[in-house]
Amino acid sequence: MKKCIVIGGGLAGLTAAAYLANSGFSVEVIEASPKLGGRAYSFIDNQTGTIIDNGQHIMMGCYVDTLRFFKLIGAEKNLVFQKRLKVNFIKENFQVFPVKALPIPYPFNLLSALMRYNAISLRERMMFLKFFLKLPFVSIKKLDGINVYDWLVKENQNERIRKAFWEMLAVGALNTSIKKASAAVFAHILKKMFFAGNKAATIIIPKYGLSETYCSDAVKFIESKGGKVNLLEEVKSIKVDSGRVNELITSKRIIPDFDFVVSAVPHYSIKKLLGDDGLKKDLEFCYSTILSIHLWIKGDLLKDDFYGLINSSVHWIFNHKDHLTLVISDANNLNEKSKEEIFELAAGELERFAGINRSRIISYKIIKEKRATFVPTSEIINRRPKTKTDWNNFLFAGDWIDTGLPSTIESAVKSGRMASDMITKLQGLGIN
Ligand SMILES: Cc1cc2nc3c(=O)[nH]c(=O)nc-3n(C[C@H](O)[C@H](O)[C@H](O)COP(=O)(O)OP(=O)(O)OC[C@H]3O[C@@H](n4cnc5c(N)ncnc54)[C@H](O)[C@@H]3O)c2cc1C
Repeated sequence: MKKCIVIGGGLAGLTAAAYLANSGFSVEVIEASPKLGGRAYSFIDNQTGTIIDNGQHIMMGCYVDTLRFFKLIGAEKNLVFQKRLKVNFIKENFQVFPVKALPIPYPFNLLSALMRYNAISLRERMMFLKFFLKLPFVSIKKLDGINVYDWLVKENQNERIRKAFWEMLAVGALNTSIKKASAAVFAHILKKMFFAGNKAATIIIPKYGLSETYCSDAVKFIESKGGKVNLLEEVKSIKVDSGRVNELITSKRIIPDFDFVVSAVPHYSIKKLLGDDGLKKDLEFCYSTILSIHLWIKGDLLKDDFYGLINSSVHWIFNHKDHLTLVISDANNLNEKSKEEIFELAAGELERFAGINRSRIISYKIIKEKRATFVPTSEIINRRPKTKTDWNNFLFAGDWIDTGLPSTIESAVKSGRMASDMITKLQGLGIN
């Protein structure tokens, strides 16, 4: 039985491990921290005893690889699926503007949802629709080097349309300003979301805390196939000889006996592990913060599962009844702000938009994820490393690998699946 070591127990590592174990490899996951899940995990908040996420995660029906992985490990049951797309956008004083697909055939259900989006005028909706209908024919290659802002302006998407729709979507999906994000990657995900059937455009949210949603089932699955998952063990360095990685040095041991290694750690960790060897020396990733403001309130005051805020510094409110999660994406400008200042900002916006007075807030917790996602500029998108490295038995996975997607769950899972596919292929060719 061929042996694979997977470094990193985030979504990319767990996916690679699950697929490899399922294909009959002997698999060992080595995770440095005391928990699995990497940048997508949950924990118990000491003050309230509630299980909370390090940051609210949403998925979409177009997350094909993610849904396949969840199905493989038996975790699909832990997701809440929309039947049809529904997102409520709100302006001040809780004016609600739904984007809601009707129960009519695709694509008319989506087109009618957009045409009824009256946060913008009828004339603006026509400009919006015109652009939308052009999207399937847009050449991604021709958008190379262009940012989302310039593309939208060129396509006559005025400031009101940008603010009320495109920015909400782009900042949510790419976690950076539309002036930095690559138009090519945005167009690629728009095509996946809106032009791949009704399901692709629907939103999926975890039913439980993130760790309970997929980490437990992933471990159960890997172990049921004879694999092992080790926590609190950091891979410190690797030894390479004759174009092959032949030793891993961890915080606990030296591992000399394996056929393949999948590195599923973020770019900033792989740099520590490999130095500049095996990586493009001048490839520098920049990162964007996501801020999560967990608020516990008196009463169950909101009706829907989530709301997008138009023209607010808070982008989303997720409703878990007496616990709300407010999300601020692209939040590098708030990195130096104190928790009290962030709370004040969030409580103010909650009152202004949803009419929930701060006297109703019982407790709060703020989580700053400073390296939540990398910034998908045109330069980075074009130069991301591939799965295969210069060393035959060493493969890259992680959301930063060349998957064509921004830094998301789907990119991480796809990269893990790609690493597993590549190993199966190399094994078939007798290479290791
Ligand atoms: C607050 C927040 C909100 C987000 N919201 C969304 C969302 O709504 N939708 C979406 O699709 N995506 C979202 N994302 C992005 C998504 O979480 C990430 O893209 C994804 O989790 C990355 O997974 P990964 O496996 O590539 O990397 P990671 O999750 O970073 O996993 C890498 C793992 O490797 C381990 N490791 C590192 N170095 C070593 C070493 N030397 N030895 C052993 N182990 C090591 C780390 O401890 C870590 O567990 C969000 C991210 C954050 C932080």
